[in-house]
Amino acid sequence: MTACGKATPLETAALRPCVGCGLVLRETGGTPPPELSASAACFDRYGELLSRSYSLETYRPVH
Ligand SMILES: [Zn+2]
Repeated sequence: MTACGKATPLETAALRPCVGCGLVLRETGGTPPPELSASAACFDRYGELLSRSYSLETYRPVH
């Protein structure tokens, strides 16, 4: 929500379940994986998680 009380575009985006795992997220307008095994929003979360995981020195042994 903005300071003036209006909903942002992300807040008004439709909720959709991921075709791969069923997680319900708001559409991001992003790009789904090429094999279409997940929603774009879920694929975005996956990328964020991967990025965080690789940036933590303590997680290096698991990669
Ligand atoms: Zn998913």
